[in-house]
Amino acid sequence: MRVALTFDTEFPGRPTSTGVEDRLLEALAERGVTATFFLQGRWARANPEQARRIAAAGHRLGNHSNFHAPMNGLDDGMLRYDIRRAEETIRETTGADPRPWFRCPFGAGMEDERVLAAIGELGYRHVGWNVDPEDWNEEHAGAEVERLVLEGVRARERDTIVLLHGWPEATAEALPRIISTLVADGVELVSVDSLERV
Ligand SMILES: [Zn+2]
Repeated sequence: MRVALTFDTEFPGRPTSTGVEDRLLEALAERGVTATFFLQGRWARANPEQARRIAAAGHRLGNHSNFHAPMNGLDDGMLRYDIRRAEETIRETTGADPRPWFRCPFGAGMEDERVLAAIGELGYRHVGWNVDPEDWNEEHAGAEVERLVLEGVRARERDTIVLLHGWPEATAEALPRIISTLVADGVELVSVDSLERV
């Protein structure tokens, strides 16, 4: 079974410690795991060195919009501008092309035909998820995130996408054990490129 760990990398949703992205990179590097990071355009502009470190570590990049607004609330022009602006920033900052991977902020619009049409027109496919430990939730400590990810993955029998974020402290705490347990379970950890459609 294959599992793609994905990290939405954006301005933190609440105050958090700095350096979480580097701790994630370290945990992934220790086990030689390739993950997928969905970068918010504005975040990448504000944190170009960090964005470059993620790309340089060999992870797959995706587009997580520019403003991190609910995409179904944007008019047609704004929707396209937002996706293109993020893409331009990610390319200029990291040298990597985020296409064809796009993830809607908050998952808002991922079932909206107008949003999906704009995403498709610009060369993207939307990437949802199968397991969500709500690592952004401040009531979820590292142990809880770890438990929810492992339970979620073990309940599935097919390729699985796990939704995580690049900034919560709990995610940095949980990741080393999530990786070692999944590897011990015989799971193959891959980037989204290597998954069958899930
Ligand atoms: Zn997000």
